[in-house]
Amino acid sequence: SERAHPARAEIVVDLDAVAHNVSTLRDLVAPAALMAVVKADGYGHGMSAVARTARAAGATWLGVATPEEALALRAAGDTGRLLCWLAAPGDSYEEVLAADVDVAAYDVAQFDEVAAAAGRAGVTARVHLKIDTGLSRGGATAEQWPGLCAHARQVEASGAVRVVGVWSHLVASDEPGHPVTDLQAKAFDEAVALAEKAGLQLEVRHLANSAAAIHRADLRHDLVRCGISIYGLDPAPGVPSPVDLVPAMTVQGRLALTKSVPAGAGVSYGHAWVATEETTLGLVPVGYGEGVPRAASPGAEVWVAGRRRPVRGKVCMDQLVVDLHGDSVAAGERYVLFGPGDAGEPTAQDWAEAAGTINYEIVTQLGGRLTRRYV
Ligand code: PLP
Repeated sequence: SERAHPARAEIVVDLDAVAHNVSTLRDLVAPAALMAVVKADGYGHGMSAVARTARAAGATWLGVATPEEALALRAAGDTGRLLCWLAAPGDSYEEVLAADVDVAAYDVAQFDEVAAAAGRAGVTARVHLKIDTGLSRGGATAEQWPGLCAHARQVEASGAVRVVGVWSHLVASDEPGHPVTDLQAKAFDEAVALAEKAGLQLEVRHLANSAAAIHRADLRHDLVRCGISIYGLDPAPGVPSPVDLVPAMTVQGRLALTKSVPAGAGVSYGHAWVATEETTLGLVPVGYGEGVPRAASPGAEVWVAGRRRPVRGKVCMDQLVVDLHGDSVAAGERYVLFGPGDAGEPTAQDWAEAAGTINYEIVTQLGGRLTRRYV
């Protein structure tokens, strides 16, 4: 009920929504398999709870960026296929390999580092070779690729490593018709063909993130890596989607204070907003210390007493002010910063647009003093 949860400010994560999104995506992409991307603490939703839910709903793979994230999943009891793709110099591969985690390799030196670590750990490493098809982040260039594949094939003979995957990442999947996607798809196909020609026995070829998994059936290959969509957020806002995703996160709490102010009252630092008439203001006890973007004002709205209320003035570290337009609302009234949007409340996408950013950043940045509760 509206009064059941008197938290000042909390993140509520609807795990049924995550389960719904995962099983919807799994059905959509079959026979390709689904990897649930749970890095960055599950895009702010909580990595291990999301991971457990995603596994149960049909994600046969999990994906994370760092070795620490992979080890945290193992420590939380996850035992399924898990890919970690962003080790940095100084990271030790030994521990993740011993924990049965698949790893990525971007070049010969890194591949050799993995092989050496696998030798020390006494395991056979499963490696996914990354081809840079245009993003210019990690991955071998087209020039490096044949050499990397040949080298990998040679080192496989030692028994320390097995190349199980070839993968890449898209530049502009949020614009499904973008010409760079077709160029990347072609480069990827060529890289896969070369890897196979070099004698590598690939188990999974993977290129698509959420937007491509949803909008480019031709790019699903054996496995898709879905992050934002499992949390119910739209990876390609504005593009009609064939899937019905349910946003899993609600940020809500109780107003700390309400009061009337006269015309001419300036609100928050710098008086970026000044009341043109007498109004009532509500004090929402969250701010950029919780990851609420300061750039979202003006433009952002908060749901209070059945209506969207504009944020007035600058978002502060611990608080922000909303305009209640003379409505009599008491301190303690529930506010919703954003949620699924079903009741009319703003969404993470609305906040992203107000802040000039993407929904990913809105949910991933939340933290600080917010508590998290699963329903
Ligand atoms: N694959 C890689 C390599 C990523 O870095 C990410 C996240 O940024 C994903 C897949 C998931 O992307 P999305 O959240 O758009 O589905």
